Amino acid sequence: MAESDYAGLIVDIPDYPEPGVIFKDITPLMADPKGFAAAIDDLADHFKDAGITKVVGAEARGFLVGAPVAYRLGAGFVPARKPGKLPRDVYSQSYSLEYGTDELQIHKDALSADDKVLIIDDLVATGGTAVATAKLVEQAGAEVMGFGFILELCYLDPRKEIGAAYDQDVFTLI
Ligand code: IMP
Repeated sequence: MAESDYAGLIVDIPDYPEPGVIFKDITPLMADPKGFAAAIDDLADHFKDAGITKVVGAEARGFLVGAPVAYRLGAGFVPARKPGKLPRDVYSQSYSLEYGTDELQIHKDALSADDKVLIIDDLVATGGTAVATAKLVEQAGAEVMGFGFILELCYLDPRKEIGAAYDQDVFTLI
Protein backbone atom coordinates (compact mmCIF):
# COMPACT_ATOMS: atom_id res chain seq x y z
CA MET A 1 0.00 0.00 0.00
CA ALA A 2 1.30 3.50 -0.83
CA GLU A 3 2.48 5.72 2.01
CA SER A 4 -0.24 8.26 1.20
CA ASP A 5 -2.92 5.56 1.53
CA TYR A 6 -1.58 4.60 4.95
CA ALA A 7 -1.37 8.25 5.97
CA GLY A 8 -5.03 8.73 4.99
CA LEU A 9 -5.98 6.14 7.63
CA ILE A 10 -4.17 7.93 10.49
CA VAL A 11 -6.05 10.69 12.33
CA ASP A 12 -4.26 13.67 13.91
CA ILE A 13 -5.66 14.66 17.31
CA PRO A 14 -4.46 18.15 18.29
CA ASP A 15 -3.74 18.92 21.94
CA TYR A 16 -3.96 15.29 23.10
CA PRO A 17 -3.01 14.07 25.65
CA GLU A 18 -1.87 17.60 26.54
CA PRO A 19 -1.84 21.05 24.90
CA GLY A 20 0.70 21.42 22.07
CA VAL A 21 0.95 17.69 21.31
CA ILE A 22 -0.52 16.25 18.10
CA PHE A 23 -1.45 12.63 18.85
CA LYS A 24 -1.38 10.23 15.89
CA ASP A 25 -4.38 7.91 16.23
CA ILE A 26 -3.69 4.65 14.37
CA THR A 27 -6.97 2.97 15.38
CA PRO A 28 -8.69 3.87 12.05
CA LEU A 29 -5.86 2.09 10.18
CA MET A 30 -6.27 -0.96 12.39
CA ALA A 31 -10.04 -0.93 11.87
CA ASP A 32 -9.64 -0.86 8.07
CA PRO A 33 -9.40 -4.48 6.85
CA LYS A 34 -7.27 -3.68 3.78
CA GLY A 35 -5.08 -1.13 5.56
CA PHE A 36 -4.41 -3.34 8.57
CA ALA A 37 -3.56 -6.37 6.43
CA ALA A 38 -1.29 -4.30 4.16
CA ALA A 39 0.56 -2.77 7.12
CA ILE A 40 1.22 -6.16 8.70
CA ASP A 41 2.22 -7.69 5.34
CA ASP A 42 4.53 -4.80 4.42
CA LEU A 43 6.32 -4.90 7.79
CA ALA A 44 6.69 -8.69 7.66
CA ASP A 45 7.78 -8.71 4.00
CA HIS A 46 10.57 -6.24 4.71
CA PHE A 47 12.11 -8.57 7.31
CA LYS A 48 11.20 -11.92 5.73
CA ASP A 49 14.81 -12.84 4.87
CA ALA A 50 16.34 -11.65 8.17
CA GLY A 51 15.97 -15.01 9.91
CA ILE A 52 13.71 -13.58 12.62
CA THR A 53 12.83 -16.12 15.32
CA LYS A 54 11.05 -13.76 17.76
CA VAL A 55 9.21 -10.47 17.57
CA VAL A 56 9.18 -8.29 20.70
CA GLY A 57 6.42 -5.66 21.05
CA ALA A 58 6.07 -3.08 23.82
CA GLU A 59 2.85 -2.61 25.81
CA ALA A 60 0.30 -1.87 24.59
CA ARG A 61 0.03 -0.99 20.91
CA GLY A 62 3.23 -2.90 20.15
CA PHE A 63 1.20 -6.04 20.92
CA LEU A 64 -1.42 -5.18 18.30
CA VAL A 65 1.15 -4.80 15.52
CA GLY A 66 3.91 -7.12 16.73
CA ALA A 67 1.83 -10.26 17.25
CA PRO A 68 0.42 -10.45 13.68
CA VAL A 69 3.85 -9.60 12.22
CA ALA A 70 5.30 -12.52 14.24
CA TYR A 71 2.58 -14.84 12.95
CA ARG A 72 3.27 -13.76 9.37
CA LEU A 73 7.04 -14.35 9.80
CA GLY A 74 6.52 -17.75 11.42
CA ALA A 75 8.21 -16.34 14.54
CA GLY A 76 7.24 -16.29 18.22
CA PHE A 77 5.93 -13.19 19.96
CA VAL A 78 7.29 -11.82 23.25
CA PRO A 79 5.46 -9.01 25.10
CA ALA A 80 7.56 -6.29 26.78
CA ARG A 81 5.27 -5.22 29.61
CA LYS A 82 4.95 -2.49 32.20
CA PRO A 83 6.28 -3.42 35.68
CA GLY A 84 4.30 -5.89 37.75
CA LYS A 85 2.37 -7.47 34.86
CA LEU A 86 4.49 -10.55 34.12
CA PRO A 87 4.14 -13.38 36.66
CA ARG A 88 7.63 -14.97 36.53
CA ASP A 89 11.27 -13.78 36.75
CA VAL A 90 11.91 -10.75 34.53
CA TYR A 91 14.62 -8.58 33.04
CA SER A 92 13.87 -4.87 33.58
CA GLN A 93 14.91 -1.79 31.65
CA SER A 94 14.08 1.75 32.66
CA TYR A 95 14.14 4.63 30.19
CA SER A 96 13.63 8.39 30.23
CA LEU A 97 10.40 10.10 29.30
CA GLU A 98 9.98 13.84 28.78
CA TYR A 99 8.99 14.01 32.46
CA GLY A 100 10.33 11.17 34.62
CA THR A 101 11.09 7.57 33.75
CA ASP A 102 9.26 4.42 32.72
CA GLU A 103 10.19 0.75 32.73
CA LEU A 104 9.62 -2.33 30.58
CA GLN A 105 10.09 -6.01 31.47
CA ILE A 106 10.28 -9.36 29.67
CA HIS A 107 10.27 -12.84 31.12
CA LYS A 108 13.84 -14.11 31.60
CA ASP A 109 13.10 -17.32 29.72
CA ALA A 110 11.26 -15.65 26.82
CA LEU A 111 14.41 -15.33 24.67
CA SER A 112 17.58 -17.38 24.31
CA ALA A 113 21.04 -16.73 22.84
CA ASP A 114 19.89 -18.34 19.57
CA ASP A 115 17.07 -15.86 19.02
CA LYS A 116 17.16 -13.27 16.25
CA VAL A 117 14.76 -10.55 17.30
CA LEU A 118 12.69 -7.96 15.47
CA ILE A 119 11.35 -5.06 17.56
CA ILE A 120 7.94 -3.81 16.47
CA ASP A 121 5.75 -0.94 17.65
CA ASP A 122 2.94 1.09 16.15
CA LEU A 123 4.83 4.35 16.29
CA VAL A 124 8.33 5.62 17.02
CA ALA A 125 8.58 9.13 18.47
CA THR A 126 11.85 9.80 20.37
CA GLY A 127 13.02 6.18 19.98
CA GLY A 128 13.31 5.73 23.76
CA THR A 129 10.82 2.86 23.96
CA ALA A 130 12.48 1.05 21.04
CA VAL A 131 15.97 1.36 22.54
CA ALA A 132 14.74 0.18 25.97
CA THR A 133 13.09 -2.82 24.28
CA ALA A 134 16.31 -3.61 22.42
CA LYS A 135 18.28 -3.46 25.68
CA LEU A 136 15.91 -6.04 27.18
CA VAL A 137 16.65 -8.29 24.21
CA GLU A 138 20.38 -7.86 24.88
CA GLN A 139 19.94 -8.56 28.59
CA ALA A 140 18.44 -11.90 27.54
CA GLY A 141 21.52 -12.60 25.38
CA ALA A 142 19.57 -12.57 22.10
CA GLU A 143 20.43 -10.62 18.95
CA VAL A 144 18.57 -7.49 17.78
CA MET A 145 18.10 -7.76 14.00
CA GLY A 146 15.96 -4.70 13.26
CA PHE A 147 13.16 -2.30 14.14
CA GLY A 148 9.80 -1.89 12.39
CA PHE A 149 7.09 0.72 12.92
CA ILE A 150 3.93 1.78 11.11
CA LEU A 151 4.64 5.45 11.73
CA GLU A 152 7.79 7.50 12.44
CA LEU A 153 7.66 11.04 13.83
CA CYS A 154 10.62 12.24 11.74
CA TYR A 155 10.72 15.67 13.38
CA LEU A 156 11.75 14.01 16.66
CA ASP A 157 14.62 12.23 14.82
CA PRO A 158 14.19 8.79 16.42
CA ARG A 159 16.81 7.35 14.05
CA LYS A 160 19.43 9.43 15.87
CA GLU A 161 18.45 7.92 19.24
CA ILE A 162 18.26 4.37 17.86
CA GLY A 163 21.36 4.82 15.68
CA ALA A 164 23.44 5.94 18.67
CA ALA A 165 23.04 2.43 20.13
CA TYR A 166 22.22 0.18 17.15
CA ASP A 167 23.18 0.15 13.48
CA GLN A 168 20.46 -2.35 12.59
CA ASP A 169 17.76 -1.74 9.99
CA VAL A 170 14.98 0.71 10.97
CA PHE A 171 11.94 0.36 8.68
CA THR A 172 8.77 2.48 8.81
CA LEU A 173 5.69 2.68 6.57
CA ILE A 174 4.86 6.36 7.12
P1 IMP B 1 9.01 7.03 22.05
O1 IMP B 1 9.51 6.13 23.15
O2 IMP B 1 9.18 8.48 22.35
O3 IMP B 1 9.59 6.64 20.70
O4 IMP B 1 7.43 6.83 21.97
C1 IMP B 1 6.88 5.73 21.31
C2 IMP B 1 5.85 5.06 22.16
O5 IMP B 1 4.86 5.98 22.60
C3 IMP B 1 5.12 3.97 21.38
O6 IMP B 1 4.93 2.84 22.22
C4 IMP B 1 3.82 4.61 20.96
O7 IMP B 1 2.75 3.68 21.03
C5 IMP B 1 3.63 5.75 21.95
N1 IMP B 1 3.28 7.02 21.28
C6 IMP B 1 3.95 8.18 21.34
N2 IMP B 1 3.33 9.14 20.63
C7 IMP B 1 2.25 8.57 20.09
C8 IMP B 1 1.21 9.05 19.19
O8 IMP B 1 1.16 10.21 18.73
N3 IMP B 1 0.28 8.12 18.83
C9 IMP B 1 0.32 6.85 19.26
N4 IMP B 1 1.25 6.38 20.08
C10 IMP B 1 2.22 7.23 20.50
